[in-house]
Amino acid sequence: MAGSPLDDVRYLAGVGPSRAGTLARLGILSISDLLLHIPRSYLDRRSIRSIGSLSPGVEATVSGEVTHVAERRTRGGRSMIHAYLSDGTGILDMVFFNAGYLRTRLTGGVRLTASGRVDFFRGPSMAHPELVFLDDDQRAALDSDRMTPVYPLTAGLSQGVMRGLVRNALEASAGRMDDLLPPEALAAFGFSSRLEVFGTIHAPTDPDSAERARRALALEELYLHQSYLAMIRAGSGSPAGLPLALDASAQREFEQRLPFEPTRAQSAAIRDIASDVSGESPMRRLLQGDVGSGKTAVAAFACWAVCRCGMQAALLAPTEVLAAQHFRTLSSLLAPMGTAINLLTGGSTARERADALESAASGKPSVLIGTHAILEPPVSLPRLALLVVDEQHKFGVDQREALLAGRDRRPHLLVMSATPIPRTLAMAFYGDLDITVIDEMPPGRGRIHTRIVREEGRREAMDKLLERLAAGERAYVVYPLKEASEKQDLLDASTAFERMAAGPAGRYGVGLLHGAMSPAEKNATASDFAEGRLSVLVSTTVVEVGLDVPEATVMIVSGAGRFGLSQLHQLRGRIGRSGRESWCFLIAGRDASGKALERLSALASTSDGFALARKDLELRGPGDILGTRQSGLPEFRVADLVEDEDLLVEASALARAGAPGASAVEEMRRRFGAGASHVV
Ligand code: ADP
Ligand code: MG
Repeated sequence: MAGSPLDDVRYLAGVGPSRAGTLARLGILSISDLLLHIPRSYLDRRSIRSIGSLSPGVEATVSGEVTHVAERRTRGGRSMIHAYLSDGTGILDMVFFNAGYLRTRLTGGVRLTASGRVDFFRGPSMAHPELVFLDDDQRAALDSDRMTPVYPLTAGLSQGVMRGLVRNALEASAGRMDDLLPPEALAAFGFSSRLEVFGTIHAPTDPDSAERARRALALEELYLHQSYLAMIRAGSGSPAGLPLALDASAQREFEQRLPFEPTRAQSAAIRDIASDVSGESPMRRLLQGDVGSGKTAVAAFACWAVCRCGMQAALLAPTEVLAAQHFRTLSSLLAPMGTAINLLTGGSTARERADALESAASGKPSVLIGTHAILEPPVSLPRLALLVVDEQHKFGVDQREALLAGRDRRPHLLVMSATPIPRTLAMAFYGDLDITVIDEMPPGRGRIHTRIVREEGRREAMDKLLERLAAGERAYVVYPLKEASEKQDLLDASTAFERMAAGPAGRYGVGLLHGAMSPAEKNATASDFAEGRLSVLVSTTVVEVGLDVPEATVMIVSGAGRFGLSQLHQLRGRIGRSGRESWCFLIAGRDASGKALERLSALASTSDGFALARKDLELRGPGDILGTRQSGLPEFRVADLVEDEDLLVEASALARAGAPGASAVEEMRRRFGAGASHVV
């Protein structure tokens, strides 16, 4: 029934045009969406503590009646509400700052539950507890053994209305809902049908069955996602590949001609690739490695091998600055080996452009580097045998497939990701690719000192910066992207840039890099920095995370609390790229939260990108792990990739074991396919 017009939530009893609009704000457009709008918690007598039994430091939920409310102003002028909750065993002091919106709802006689961390000042108190204002049904539930769901809501909806709608949705679905998971998988959770799972999650009899239902739905979601990736893989795997006739000595020859000794991990990755590209079916491989682990040299091998066999390669970078850098790096590695390399970007001159286009169209062995424009007309690469995609998370699976489609022989694909994500996540996002991990750093890297400082510590950071500039080294100064206003970022960075350029750092050359610059300007600034004409790069964005400038030894990040751990790790990875000692200053800002500081201290304590990625996942959730939504990660509604790691493994096995049924395919497309809100 999913996808059929009958599934539209507007046809559900109790939903008129205005309520449909309200539901749409929660992402609920269909009856299926409504059933998948799972409770954020349940009211359950068994989970309620008595106020008299609370002790400091614990997380607890209590239930009672508001006795009275007092409002004050703090000395700083903030409004502060105290509301006192009584349950007959004691009185809880609930404190809210600047919470005017609560003033009308928090009045004497109101019944509610409050959840939060218990503090003690004279008596038990909670700061900003989570509140559930109880309606009759919920009050009754708290007096019985029943569990009542508490839903995420939006303005204009009440818990009671939501419960009624979900009940209607369950009734409307009876007898017409197909199972999506294989029956054995459902049975393992103790359910005989999908409808029963929904019935349970919306009205469980006890906490255990609620959790079983949640896990069944999480497995279903992960299974659909894994099946979707498998479908893409099967659909695109059918055209013939381009097996290359690589001789057995190729790897040895390449490694001998590299300017450095490859690490064991780089050699192993090269071996994987050599074997893939010699095979009948096209390579589909993810090359994952921490920042600075040396992925470029491995990609260079793939490009070199393809050209050696008389074919063409293309390398796709997420930005023009990175394209230009790859061009420099690959040229320095491969030009001495006789491989032709061209760069095509918005910043190319007419002449460079004409040369690159002609070389590509001639079909002569070469490597073409650029952003996605290199795979669109008027560029033609008649003998394209390899596509290397750097920083894949900027491209969706659909986009990537579109690039490779429409050729009778499918090129090999190598995806490089500098974001070390835990294996389970890698499976979730790249389930359609084989994975090679570079788990070793090139030798001879200098130590990186990571310092977390408050605003007052900026001085110390600047002193270190000047000291290193005087020693002939280079520095990055980064400002965060603020959600509210990009203009403000630019302002921060421009002000800093002007101040630095006018100050003692000025004589070493200070440059500014920001999102609003043209590609040509960005390229010019980045290469001035790479080549030493500038010694300080002030930047507004983290887009240019792939910059490789071994002379850089100082990184100063302002507003560091706003970045994710993985992003900070990427930024820190810009320094310490040579044998020299390096310094990373994370300026937390006055408004940094406790959670932000916890993230920063994790960063100071380890340089292992994988460990940090896991920590990031725990602290921020998967949607945030690579920064933002635009990172192209799927967002799961039910599954939690930290808690449900075991389910992901099971989902992947199920998806491999057999083809999903027609209803599952329909649901997969609806949730993950092109045009769905979840990009893969
Ligand atoms: P990333 O994996 O972050 O893309 P790069 O490919 O940019 O890493 O490599 C980082 C730096 O390490 C580059 O300057 C590169 O020349 C150098 N490098 C790569 N492999 C080795 C090696 N085996 N020995 C020494 N230096 C290496
Ligand atoms: Mg790189």
